[in-house]
Amino acid sequence: MGRIEKGIKCSVCGKEAIRSISAEKVKAAGLSAGNEKRAYLCKEHYKEYKKKTKKDKTLDKWRYG
Ligand SMILES: [Zn+2]
Repeated sequence: MGRIEKGIKCSVCGKEAIRSISAEKVKAAGLSAGNEKRAYLCKEHYKEYKKKTKKDKTLDKWRYG
């Protein structure tokens, strides 16, 4: 997780990726990540991914808090 090489494309839209994330997590966030184990996300889709995971955390907080 974290930094990735330059020139890698987003698994969702094909733009330049900024982050690599486990494909499972990406799928759990509702984004299609292809069949690779590792998914690459561009700025936009990483934002979307973060938004989705944040939502889950908020739900957890609500549930346990
Ligand atoms: Zn993208």
